[in-house]
Formats: sequence, structure tokens, C-alpha cells
Amino acid sequence: MPNPQVVSESSVMPTYSRFPVEMAKAKGSYIWDSEGLRYLDFTSGIAVCNLGHVPEQVKEKVEEQLNTLWHCSNLYHIPAQEQLAAKLTALSCHDKVFFCNSGAEANEAAIKLARRYSKKVKQSEAFEIVTFKHSFHGRTMATLSATGQEKIQDGFVPLLEGFSYLPYNDSEALEQLSGQKTCAVLLELVQGEGGVIPADLEWVQALEKKCQAEGILLMVDEIQTGIGRTGTLFAYEQYGILPDVMTLAKGLGSGFPIGAMLAKAEAAKAFEPGSHGSTFGGNPLAATAGLATLDVFESDEILETAQKNGKYLLTALQDLQAQFPDQIKEVRGKGLLLGLVTTTEAIKIVNKARDLQVLVLVAGPNVVRILPPLTTTEAEIDACLAVLKDVFQQL
Ligand SMILES: *Cc1c(COP(=O)(O)O)cnc(C)c1O
Repeated sequence: MPNPQVVSESSVMPTYSRFPVEMAKAKGSYIWDSEGLRYLDFTSGIAVCNLGHVPEQVKEKVEEQLNTLWHCSNLYHIPAQEQLAAKLTALSCHDKVFFCNSGAEANEAAIKLARRYSKKVKQSEAFEIVTFKHSFHGRTMATLSATGQEKIQDGFVPLLEGFSYLPYNDSEALEQLSGQKTCAVLLELVQGEGGVIPADLEWVQALEKKCQAEGILLMVDEIQTGIGRTGTLFAYEQYGILPDVMTLAKGLGSGFPIGAMLAKAEAAKAFEPGSHGSTFGGNPLAATAGLATLDVFESDEILETAQKNGKYLLTALQDLQAQFPDQIKEVRGKGLLLGLVTTTEAIKIVNKARDLQVLVLVAGPNVVRILPPLTTTEAEIDACLAVLKDVFQQL
């Protein structure tokens, strides 16, 4: 534990209410604090360390890159960036990639692409972007305007013009979509921050149909669901859709900051030299981390492991629910993005679990979010469940 005095005198802006733990090092599914206490990390740094902490293959590639070239501007070709874009487009239904440094920036790029595609390519007046209630798309002005949660927007009005929010998983609401005013729909296939709410398959397919009929771009925010989190490399693969645009960040660099906005060839026509940019976007180190991360997905059986672990964790959580039916109302999610809907405040459960050296997250006031590394083991899942059982017994 850090010296409390040091914490209260911190020069860091208090935008997070931090837990009284100071992290020092990590490996695989474990993270150690500065006092040497070991925690089982079932947060994965919020869906970032999908391959576990400090994955060897990524570390080696980044180390090599550290010895040659850290940064060069996007005014020159960057081989690792070219390779990462080629790999991402080979693995997805997309043709072009724009690189940036975070999730918010990836969504910002998608929002800009949608507006410019409408205006410049289609010569249309439509500029509205439809998102969904309880969504989360980031913290920049455009992405918080896109976010369907008032608490994220609190104090930042006026919001950016041209966003509206429909109820999630609501088929009737889709009738309101019109290509006359809407240029794009942006959605999460599992709402992460909003409470671990998976989209219904039929609803998503109906949404894609409606978008196609109205000439509206379908854009999926896979910043949390992507890179194997839900059991497939991208969650959209499980929905039988081919979105026009997809955004990635969190898991893409295994902890190295990187974001990406992918678009099919048609939508990608919106961006030409000068339309958009980023100093650091796809820089040699970040692109190398992304490339090495995807290499692991191609060479190891990560997705099979993730699927197996996902089923095992889901069953274990359902057993827990059966033991504590008054405290756990629902278990939901996809792959290794799972949530427990609880009757007590989720933060109490998160705090008690941390005291027992297991890290989990909240997703809204009464949802405990569990995001193990995809590489976790049944033994680690058992250890997490033993602690959760203790916690629910104490409540
Ligand atoms: C985390 C997240 C973002 C924002 O990513 P940052 O890297 O924090 O800007 C956007 N959308 C979703 C779905 C996320 O989970």
C-alpha cells in the first residue's frame, strides 16, 4: 500500500477514484503491488492484456524494435504499420485502416469518416449519427456526445450536434432510422461499460438490413469486444454481419497504446491526404506491438483457449448464482466479457474481492464485470470463484 499522505498530495488530476493499491509488476494472469502482494488480475487492465501481462512473444518483438526505430512521422512509410494494416484487413471484412492511439480516437476517426463520407462521397445532407442508450464510446467531445450515458456528459454541455440515441435491443426503434438524416449507426455488440449487455443476434441482423436499405453506414465499436475478448477475434463474426466500419484499441497492443479504425473500401473513400491525421498513430513501436499481438492469435490456439475458458467461467458463475440466488440476479455476457448482476452495490463486491487478492471490475452500479486474460486456466478461474464465493457469503 502506498503512503496515504503521498496519495492525498498526488499531483495527478483526480479524474479517477483510485483504489489504495500501487501496482509494481505483472506476469500472465497476476499483478503484484509495491508491497509484493500478488493479485489474480481478472480485469486484464480493462480488456487490454488479453494475452496476459507482458506476453513473451510481444515483448521480444517490441524489444527488437526498441533497438532500431522508436518513432518516425507518418510522412514516411512505416513497415510495421503497413504489415499491421495488411494483417488486420486480411483478418476482417475491411480494406483500409487508420491508426491512432486510443479507443476514443478510433471512434473519433469513425465519426469523422461517416460525416465526410456522407458529405463528400454521397453528397448527402445526412450528418446524424445514431448510437444507443447505455453505450460507451469514449471521453473526447465527439465520443462523449456519442455516448448514451448522462453521467459521462455531465458538465460538458453543449454537446456536439448530430447525435441521437435509440434503445438497445429494441426492434421497433429501428423503424425510426432514416438515411435522410442519419449517416451512420455506431454500436457495441456487447455494451461493456454500460453493464455487460450483449446485443441480440436477430436485432443486430435487422439493424444491418435496415442500414443497408437506408444507405446508412453500420459501424461497430469493438474496442472492448475485439481481439478475442468474446471468443472470436472480432465479436461481429458471431453476428453474421459485415459492418462497414470497425474500431479497435484496448487489446490490440497487449498494453502498448494503439487504436485503429477499419473501413470497407467504399466507406474508406471518405478519407484522402489531409482529411485526418495523428502524430503517433501507428508509430513503429505501437504497430510492432499490434503486429506481434495478432501473430500470437495466428500461431497459438488463443481463440480455442478463450472459448473453452469462457464456457468454463460462465458455468462456474451460473453455479455461483444458483448458490446465491438472492444476491445474483443474472449472469450475462459473451466469451470472457462476463457480468454478474447483483442486488448489492457492485463496488462492495469488487472491494472485498480485492482484499482477498482477486481483481474484478464494476460496469454500472450493480454489475460486477469479469475480464480474465484469454490465456487464463481453469485453476485460476476456480481460484477466482472461491474468492467470489467467500465474498457473497460475507454479504
Ligand atoms: C474503452 C472503450 C472506449 C474508449 O477507449 P479509450 O482508449 O479509453 O479512449 C470506447 N469504446 C468502448 C466500447 C470501450 O470499451
